[in-house]
Amino acid sequence: MGKIKCKAIKPDGSQCNVWAMRGKEYCYFCNPEIPDEVKFKARGLGGARSGKNPVDVDLKILKLKKPEDIIGLLEETINLIRTGRMDTQTGNSIAYCSNHLIKTFEITDLEIRMKELEENLKNKG
Ligand SMILES: [Zn+2]
Repeated sequence: MGKIKCKAIKPDGSQCNVWAMRGKEYCYFCNPEIPDEVKFKARGLGGARSGKNPVDVDLKILKLKKPEDIIGLLEETINLIRTGRMDTQTGNSIAYCSNHLIKTFEITDLEIRMKELEENLKNKG
């Protein structure tokens, strides 16, 4: 079986005329056996067309200096996941990092209190 041209007819009535896939009657993009999603992905339109971008909004750089800032971050993340504008993998990463930040805040807070206690004890002794 030699090389043949794609037998698909384009919307304007002309033949596709692209070389058909090996052993097939259609070219890659006309082949009805290949789902559209796969074709769009191959064209580099997968993300935009199927809404599979990891994050579908412009996220701002946040200053995360205190526990209250983490509450805002988590609130935003939860709402983006709930409304389908952020994938769960990105959400999980944010939750993971937030956890570390919260622990760091806790340790920092404890260290400050310890120093205060030590100072108080010194002054009394
Ligand atoms: Zn074709």
